[in-house]
Amino acid sequence: MAEKDNVNSIVAEVMKGLAPAIGQAVQNARMSPEELNELKKPYLDPAKEASNLRLRRMTQAEITRGLEQRKARQDNCPHKITAQGGVTTSSINVVHGLICSEPPNMPYGLCGHCEKEIKSQHWVVDYDKDDPAGKYRLVPADPLYWKVQELVEAEISGNNY
Ligand SMILES: [Zn+2]
Repeated sequence: MAEKDNVNSIVAEVMKGLAPAIGQAVQNARMSPEELNELKKPYLDPAKEASNLRLRRMTQAEITRGLEQRKARQDNCPHKITAQGGVTTSSINVVHGLICSEPPNMPYGLCGHCEKEIKSQHWVVDYDKDDPAGKYRLVPADPLYWKVQELVEAEISGNNY
């Protein structure tokens, strides 16, 4: 028993000596919510962030350049094919059933050369930061849509262009 009391008194003595240090450690460990949130953030390497940003900008520039080249190719395309015999025909293929057209299911043209889609009046959905469903916009028919109508009429009457 005496030995146990002795141990307890030693522990009590040690704890008394440590109490100010423990108190200071707890005081140091106390952080504001802002400091705690700061600790939760993952470490971001500034060099890696700069590299990622540079890559993103390069990709955006590449996409923009590709879209501009495609638009130029489509604007300069005659949308015609000249066969070996010298016969020139339309390179526009008629695709039936454009769901977003107004009225729905109108045919549209797809050029085999430049991949231009020649659509009738149709709906598109634009990004809207306030509405997750987006914003609907009615786009007027392509100025070349008469060519698609001609092809459809030829298809109906059995003529080949
Ligand atoms: Zn074309």
